[in-house]
Amino acid sequence: MSGSLFPLKQVLYFKVPIKGKNHKKDLVMIQFEEAYQIVLDSSFNTGSEEICFAESTDRILAEDVLSDTDKPPFNRSAVDGYACSRDDLKTELEVIEVIAAGKMPVIYPGKNQCSKIMTGAVVPEGCNIVFMVEDAELLPTGKVKFKGGFTKDNISLKGEDVRAGECILKAGRVIKPQDIAVMASVGHTNVKVKKKPKLAVLSTGSELVEPEQIPAPGQIRNSNAYQLVVQAQRAGAIPEYYGIAQDDENETFKIITKAISENDLVILTGGVSAGDFDFVPSVLERAGVTILFARVAVQPGKPTTFGIHSKALVFGLPGNPVSSFIQFEMLVRPLIHKMMESDWKPFNIVLPMKDSFSRRFTDRMALLPVIITTDGFVSPVEYHGSAHISALPEADGIIAMAIGKNTLKKGELVNVRQI
Ligand code: AMP
Ligand code: MG
Repeated sequence: MSGSLFPLKQVLYFKVPIKGKNHKKDLVMIQFEEAYQIVLDSSFNTGSEEICFAESTDRILAEDVLSDTDKPPFNRSAVDGYACSRDDLKTELEVIEVIAAGKMPVIYPGKNQCSKIMTGAVVPEGCNIVFMVEDAELLPTGKVKFKGGFTKDNISLKGEDVRAGECILKAGRVIKPQDIAVMASVGHTNVKVKKKPKLAVLSTGSELVEPEQIPAPGQIRNSNAYQLVVQAQRAGAIPEYYGIAQDDENETFKIITKAISENDLVILTGGVSAGDFDFVPSVLERAGVTILFARVAVQPGKPTTFGIHSKALVFGLPGNPVSSFIQFEMLVRPLIHKMMESDWKPFNIVLPMKDSFSRRFTDRMALLPVIITTDGFVSPVEYHGSAHISALPEADGIIAMAIGKNTLKKGELVNVRQI
């Protein structure tokens, strides 16, 4: 890991900087905005690599792409038609040449002359207009006459789109399919992109079994890890799944240490709450991680934990699947993009609430999964707490309700962050 690390803010972690088994009770809760800033400020640069332009979609561009020529590179006919001088439009014109796309004109029309020309072909010198085949009358003499009332020039002038040397794609963008065409058009066949951060996903919890197993009484299937691996992939990282660590300090330590040594980012789920077997924070410290925060005033996601190590940045996300999903979107995805110096921004859309929505406690910022209805309204997904995983596939986005706010009125405009 290179670059500058965030100045240690351990003061945020404990109210009183004491160590020991019971220190969980003294954790400081910070606001989401502060957590977000700490996470982004801890970012480091992943560096860049060169790849084939045709394989660069969804990667982050690490260089400005310049045009190698003027575009268009010559005065180009925009239509199939006849090229001549506008002064000669009213006269009968002798056709002296047929110019196909890809061929250079050989002779240049003079007074009362024209060349038949195809779309994309080079307009011969001396011509300042191309009238369309549809506006041409072929005379028995073999000559041609413009029969329309008015015509545009129908010539795309050399350099009118882009000048040679001009920047046509700026570093930092998420490369889109349209950008591939732009790179092809300027011959930029090897493109510098940001390296994807390597990201470890590991689950903690003695109650967990893998999806292909039948849970014994008291067990549940590990769903978070698979969700997080895909979220990480979509966010542009290279995820690797490190399995389930039982709620055992030594086993958790071993797997965390390995994950940290092999990755830029490590995401754990579970084990960060206040239970007797929530070992993750103490194991992280034992593994050399400096924890910067361990409680965030958000609902769901309060025990979200974040720390830094000289080798990797580490998130301890709550075990509850809705919490881990949302906190990944809110904190981890922006960090992955920051590490790649990407200009990505979450896609937000402002829409009215379908009905009013109230909550009782307002001491934390609420992050609500919502549906965008077909008639353009926002409706919170009905879910019974952060473990109600089957409610999440319905959600189109997330809205935030600030601390202190207990009601969103029917028709009130809210910012929906698409997921
Ligand atoms: P924890 O954060 O470890 O206290 O876990 C909170 C809740 O989330 C518990 O009900 C766990 O069983 C559940 N949980 C923890 N990890 C996972 C996981 N990987 N997949 C699904 N549920 C989980
Ligand atoms: Mg647990």
